[in-house]
Amino acid sequence: MLRKVLAKVEEGRFARGLAGLQAGWQFEVKHRVFVKRGVEVAGYVKYNGKQYGVQIEPGSCFCSCEDAMSRKTLCKHIAFVAMAELAFYAAERSAHRQPQEVRPTS
Ligand SMILES: [Zn+2]
Repeated sequence: MLRKVLAKVEEGRFARGLAGLQAGWQFEVKHRVFVKRGVEVAGYVKYNGKQYGVQIEPGSCFCSCEDAMSRKTLCKHIAFVAMAELAFYAAERSAHRQPQEVRPTS
């Protein structure tokens, strides 16, 4: 499902999200719940003193940045979160751990 999101990201934004991953952008997870069709994940992308709220779930993506809000596009932050999540799952599986959910705190 995250790979399907990435497949819909335009090439330039995909590259900027990947560059962010390489540059050490942080994804602070607030919520990660595995659902039948994939994952519902939300949190903050942080770098260079900037912070954007991103949410990805089956059938919808959101980011608080100008690019996503005004152009209604899949921005580099959404691409970055999808990549960071995939990298996290791969690392967990590689270490023989089950990726853990993060339940929203109330
Ligand atoms: Zn964005």
